[in-house]
Amino acid sequence: MLVSPVLTTSTAFGAFSVYRGVPAELTSGNAESFLQHLDGPTAFVLDGGLEKTRLVSCLVHGNEPSGLKAVARAFKGNPYSHHANMIYFVGNVRAAKAGLQPFSHRLLDNMGLSGPARDMNRIWAGHVPGGAQALVDSLLGVVHQFSMEACLDLHNTSGANPHFAVTLPDCIGSELIAGQLAPRVMKLSLESGLIGAMNMYCPSLVLECGKMGMKSADQIALRSLTHFLNDSLSLESRDITRYQVSAEVYIKKGLTMDFLGDTLEENHLSLSPQLEDLNFSALGQAVRIGRIDGDGSNGLPFVLSDHQAARQYFDWDDYGYIWLRPGYTLAMATLHQDNIRNSCLFYVLESQEANFGVPWSAA
Ligand SMILES: [Zn+2]
Repeated sequence: MLVSPVLTTSTAFGAFSVYRGVPAELTSGNAESFLQHLDGPTAFVLDGGLEKTRLVSCLVHGNEPSGLKAVARAFKGNPYSHHANMIYFVGNVRAAKAGLQPFSHRLLDNMGLSGPARDMNRIWAGHVPGGAQALVDSLLGVVHQFSMEACLDLHNTSGANPHFAVTLPDCIGSELIAGQLAPRVMKLSLESGLIGAMNMYCPSLVLECGKMGMKSADQIALRSLTHFLNDSLSLESRDITRYQVSAEVYIKKGLTMDFLGDTLEENHLSLSPQLEDLNFSALGQAVRIGRIDGDGSNGLPFVLSDHQAARQYFDWDDYGYIWLRPGYTLAMATLHQDNIRNSCLFYVLESQEANFGVPWSAA
């Protein structure tokens, strides 16, 4: 056990603890040992008496370890900043510790929560069950004591993606900081995410560091955290590609699916095994993304957020092949069935620039 926290609150995600400074047990640099010392969501307040304060969060999704690895490394070295007081928030510790292997659960089902509130990144707009709201109120209670300058929320994707930042639309301050950390910025109206709440206090962004488990993603998280600690976060504009989310795409209930790309069975969707390669790819022409039984006229396999028409983004030919229309690309497409069930299948993006920016390869 660590030295006593200055504050403990019971929440649906376990006891939320707040520490002042860094307990000595957490300075080994090893993320798994760091995790074993924690019991629930935890905040560390490093108050250097400075005017501004920055917040770094990680592990809001328990299976996205790159952020925690970077924080563990910072705690071994120097987790303070010359520019600002620091608050570190380690989110869904219980999910991260569950199972035989750490970092294998995005969220847990058995928290007395149902629906989206189980996901720690879907609770921050309020009106959630009491045990989840207790975490929102407690963390924001800590944040509220400081004059906030910026918030960086570190995540991984379950499929292969280049690293990219996510900000709320129409937030130029967040976009300028995002541009210092990633060459691609995706605008997403995720008010129920942690950055939705933090944006009330300061420019806030998610950094999707790349696919979970990949060394390159861990390196990007560490490099970005180091920059976030040591840089003055000057608001000069950088050369970035901006994407707006046109649609959030889910698979219709009752369909089975595979990633063979070419199977034909009733009520079955067969998606391309190369789906992840389409993430942020430059797409000047229609691209085949899978196949369903029939020509799509008897019901489309996708459900879109906000009641948009799937036909706007997808086309079906007589053989049942599904095409993504030209001018659109994908983000966060994954072959990971659990994540598809717990989140969406992928996002459809439109670039706000004339071209699609720097090509990249998932290889
Ligand atoms: Zn995440």
